[in-house]
Amino acid sequence: MGTHMIAALLEFTKTFGLDLLGYFLTTGVFALLVFKLKPQRLMARKIQPQREPTGKDIKREILASIRTGAVFGLAAILGYALFQAGVMRVYFDVADYGLLYLLFTIPLVIVAHDAWFYWTHRAMHHPKLFKHMHVTHHLSRVPTPFTAFSFDPLEALSHALFTTVFVSLVPVHPGVMAFHFVFMIIRNVMGHTGFELMPKWWLNSTWTRWINTTTHHDLHHQRGGYNLGLYFTWWDKWMGTEHPDYEARFHETWARSDALDLAADDDRQSKLAGRVVAGLIGLFVGVALLLTAAPSRAADDTSLEGRWISKARDIILDIGPCQAASDEWCGTIVWVPTDTNGQPRLDRMNKDHALKSRPLIGIKMGWGFAPSGTNKFDGGRIYSPDDGNTYKSKARVVSATQAEMDGCVFIFCRTEHLDRYVPGMKLLDPATMTLVDNTYDTRETEADSDADADGAKQLARSD
Ligand SMILES: [Zn+2]
Ligand SMILES: [Zn+2]
Repeated sequence: MGTHMIAALLEFTKTFGLDLLGYFLTTGVFALLVFKLKPQRLMARKIQPQREPTGKDIKREILASIRTGAVFGLAAILGYALFQAGVMRVYFDVADYGLLYLLFTIPLVIVAHDAWFYWTHRAMHHPKLFKHMHVTHHLSRVPTPFTAFSFDPLEALSHALFTTVFVSLVPVHPGVMAFHFVFMIIRNVMGHTGFELMPKWWLNSTWTRWINTTTHHDLHHQRGGYNLGLYFTWWDKWMGTEHPDYEARFHETWARSDALDLAADDDRQSKLAGRVVAGLIGLFVGVALLLTAAPSRAADDTSLEGRWISKARDIILDIGPCQAASDEWCGTIVWVPTDTNGQPRLDRMNKDHALKSRPLIGIKMGWGFAPSGTNKFDGGRIYSPDDGNTYKSKARVVSATQAEMDGCVFIFCRTEHLDRYVPGMKLLDPATMTLVDNTYDTRETEADSDADADGAKQLARSD
């Protein structure tokens, strides 16, 4: 379908663009530090002083990283399709789960990603998978900031799938995922800088020693079997895969720097470089937080007004204000399939005998929905033609193309997922229970969306 193609392309472009932006901003800042500013203090903490990366290495790393961005873009299309199918548990309104829950999901996504990374990474070091999935990353024996996204396409996919799986399991705000992306890319680039960035006391403090250092991941590039974790040392410690000389190598690097008798000028220069990098990273995080607000704003732009169709494609509702200038919302049935004899379906389950012969098309199915928050409506009633009962109901607009409507009896609620109706959508044929091209749209051009007129016309035609 045309609109889905455009949406998929947009999704790809957005993800590809943001990934590359994040990659080049972060690698740019750290490359500035280690290739241009070169503060002496930091240069003394080179983790592999005997080896240098070549220009060829860096070119390969950048090209592979751009390819990784494209794979992330493709994975975003998959994520979009799953979102449309209602699988993704992303929510846009912080109030849905509360601020405390949102704050809790930040460490949750980081800890979950660390576990995902450790185990998929460990699997990729199996000889059968290594040559297909992970060899590109390990061509970099001396990592540079640009190594961060230097993956084989299949490895890139395995990283991208973490987000897909996590968001389909855990309700998560897009802002939390945006924060996680920024956190991931900064930590990832830090791990590949080639120079130890953490302070000398890092491994002596119980508060920090479980957080990975650059030496930790650099050792992985030197000896692949060790140090497979991303953010934390836990999994390597528990699974016995921590490099036996990890702590010794960290202290050795720092000892080299301490042995250097720096002139006051060099000392000042080192401090200044540190401040420039910290400032740039801070700026980057600030911009990321601003971008974080973007998806929530997009949701605010949506409205309940218009035509909505059920997931089963067996009913189209026209939703709008109950009366002009009313702030309550009503929904009218503008289409349901005919009955098995090809006749308009009637309201047979209605408790009122006189109404059993009225056609369903044209009846008011929902009413009294009052705004109760951003894109939320409460206090509504919904009439179910399936059993002739009326239920308490709430509605909310999830995105520009998705809405949900709850129908509740006492505490038992079920949620109906609705898609915004787009002309040309296939509709349910009750005779074959398959989706077929519809005649609803061609009827549409005769009159505007006035539902009563639609209903009357349907009635007239059936006579
Ligand atoms: Zn690496
Ligand atoms: Zn590896």
